[in-house]
Amino acid sequence: MSKFEELHKLKKEMEADDTLPLKKVATKLVFGVGNTEAKIVCVGEGPGFNEDKQGEPFVGQAGKLLDKLFPLAGLERKEVFITNIVHHRPPENRDPLPEEISAYGKYLDKIIEIIKPEVIITLGRFSMAKFLPNVFISGVHGKKYDVLWHGMNLVVVPMYHPAASLRNGNVLAQEKLDFVNLKNILAELSKPKETIIEVEQTSLI
Ligand code: URA
Repeated sequence: MSKFEELHKLKKEMEADDTLPLKKVATKLVFGVGNTEAKIVCVGEGPGFNEDKQGEPFVGQAGKLLDKLFPLAGLERKEVFITNIVHHRPPENRDPLPEEISAYGKYLDKIIEIIKPEVIITLGRFSMAKFLPNVFISGVHGKKYDVLWHGMNLVVVPMYHPAASLRNGNVLAQEKLDFVNLKNILAELSKPKETIIEVEQTSLI
């Protein structure tokens, strides 16, 4: 099965899962969208009003900002796969609860295990905490962390949530710098790894 087919099957399983805690209060499942062969997976917080209606992540104001931030890192939305920490809209856009994050977590884990990205960009503190527990976003945003997660070597780059940037000009200015720097992080990762060549010593004497 291709990654696309595996993700499609997983989406169907999720749609049929009546145990998901926010299912009853949401309109649509927001599974995730993008390049199923992506090297980069972006993980947001949870669907808002527009995402709930359309069944796609980041299609509202925060998504429009994200579309402007991607090019600062030399990226386009279609290159990456975008999903969330919870896949149904929490009522009134409230923060997802720990038990909700853990209920949806097994599906997010599978999404990541199927795509096998090199890089995870977390958007906001809830998705950051999945990969980098016990840190504050103010201290780690925009930096690169090597994380061994479920046996996979991932590079995690925590970013501010675009909705936070829409509320605060200082956060927006910082987030723009972080996306500019993400370009350097990605360029560094795509450099071929240095290999040590052992040269046989021949006698010159
Ligand atoms: N905010 C998120 O965290 N995710 C979305 O899909 C939309 C807005």
